[in-house]
Amino acid sequence: MEKMKKEEASNPAFTMREREVASSSGKACISYLACEPLEREGFINAFSTRLGGVSQLPESALNLAYFKGDQKENVAENRRRFLTAIEAPQAEIITARQSHSTERFSVEFKEQAHGPQPECDAMITRLTDVLLAIQTADCLPVLIADTKTRSVAAIHAGWRGTAGRITERTIADLMQTMGVNPRTSIAALGPAACARCYEVGEDVIERYRKEFGYWSKLFTNFKEGGKAHLDIRAANVQQLAFCGFTEDRIHVAPHCTMHQNDLFFSYRREGGGQPSKVGRLLSVIGRETADKR
Ligand SMILES: [Zn+2]
Repeated sequence: MEKMKKEEASNPAFTMREREVASSSGKACISYLACEPLEREGFINAFSTRLGGVSQLPESALNLAYFKGDQKENVAENRRRFLTAIEAPQAEIITARQSHSTERFSVEFKEQAHGPQPECDAMITRLTDVLLAIQTADCLPVLIADTKTRSVAAIHAGWRGTAGRITERTIADLMQTMGVNPRTSIAALGPAACARCYEVGEDVIERYRKEFGYWSKLFTNFKEGGKAHLDIRAANVQQLAFCGFTEDRIHVAPHCTMHQNDLFFSYRREGGGQPSKVGRLLSVIGRETADKR
């Protein structure tokens, strides 16, 4: 009970903002979550909600991903509203063709935004005027920024990617290719299915048991039939800590996509086995341009 109360508590590192933006019918109200320690260091970051858009998922939904469940014009309008709300109207959004892999991609050119999406589940960059964007509906988005080299990373961490240590692998890329020191970096973990909601089967537990010495810390609520609840955030906090991130530089949003389904899209709550019925949230990170700072 104590643990549940704690989890429900808000984290002062995160602020839910509401912004009115112009729309064809007057005004739309866009809500998004921002991690303030990242902002203070000059990094644009935002975790979207489902509120204030034009998509029929089911209505007025802010779906930010181009996929077969939505029309292109809707997504374009939703993205325009979102970028306006977070005060980055000119930024290029770069998304990936995500597949729960552990593939990473280094974005070297701004034009990547208009080319084919890289096939990966994590991206890193040092470019300005671009926002690396992860699309989720229950999986965990992990955003990282290094205050010294100004490099950023965005990671899609579902149970598969996490089991494959995608967060550790991405940090290794940052260290090797960008010269990043985790001790000068900040991580923000966004809204995702929480440990109270995220039930997984025996196969998942077995995979984690084989992979992680600390696996038992990540599961609760073991049930007959082999199911249990996975704490995907704790799993990724472990990976960040293993790489040298100190506790004060890891910020975990308390929001849950499943039990706060009024605010966020949840594949597990809404999908019913049909991914095309569920909108996608976007978690973005980028460097503020010199003139804005
Ligand atoms: Zn929950």
